[in-house]
Amino acid sequence: MLLIRKAADLQSVLVREGKKLGFVPTMGALHEGHLSLIRTSKSENDLTCCSIYVNPTQFNDVQDLAAYPRQVERDLVLLSDAGCDVVFLPDHDQMYPQGLHALHRYPLHPLDEMLEGASRPGHFQGVANVVDRLLQLVRPEALYMGQKDFQQVKVVERLLAYRNYPVRLVMCPTVREASGLAMSSRNARLTESQRLNAARIWSELCWIRQESRNRPWPELRQQAISRLNALPDMQVDYLHCCRSDTLEFLINRPDQPTCVVWLIAVVVGGVRLLDNILFET
Ligand code: AMP
Repeated sequence: MLLIRKAADLQSVLVREGKKLGFVPTMGALHEGHLSLIRTSKSENDLTCCSIYVNPTQFNDVQDLAAYPRQVERDLVLLSDAGCDVVFLPDHDQMYPQGLHALHRYPLHPLDEMLEGASRPGHFQGVANVVDRLLQLVRPEALYMGQKDFQQVKVVERLLAYRNYPVRLVMCPTVREASGLAMSSRNARLTESQRLNAARIWSELCWIRQESRNRPWPELRQQAISRLNALPDMQVDYLHCCRSDTLEFLINRPDQPTCVVWLIAVVVGGVRLLDNILFET
């Protein structure tokens, strides 16, 4: 496995006549969710590149950025064991040669202002900046991202269209702990009992899917929120249903069969956790 730190060194390593390149961008503190993306990329490409970079411009909270887990040595072992070919490990100068404040503004409206974007102003502009820079450097055929961050996938879809990048975006299913809790680097910051309670997030989403034809949706939403908020240290930030293609909000069950996604953010003891469930009505 090759380890590259300089943007200028990437292309000489990655450009291989006729070889397909898959790319998995991450912020490190890797877990099975990340590794599933690596494995999918490996199964569909000749070469797989993974980047590890904790992108400061997508954090709107300095404490969250400071507390974000970092364990690069362990990550490199996991990537090597998973058969990753190239790891890109840039510093801020490599990623933001003009400085962290010289950000491009992308036409993401309204995607970047709803749900996560409403609670974290600037977050998705930061995501778009970092993914755009990474794609220009890595130039992959295919990009692998997790369904866990569904809104992020939609934002990157928009970025690819805006830049006209010929990149295939592959959304991979959310990998969960045995309890149902979506794996996240942030789970490491939960106590044992918080982790146990956080598994209820997924149970409530499953309950919503199961009851979606039996009860009015506003009632489903309110009941799930109340039950989660009743657990210690848990505060639902939002729970909404959207059309899965456009992220247009849906208050009630549509008359026509529609592919929908219920998206949730819960703050558990100061740690922000995301999850979602996709289904056809
Ligand atoms: P992050 O390191 O959190 O920026 O995540 C890097 C990539 O891994 C993103 O595309 C995430 O959506 C994806 N990812 C994170 N957690 C999971 C998970 N539990 N299952 C599948 N993909 C995930």
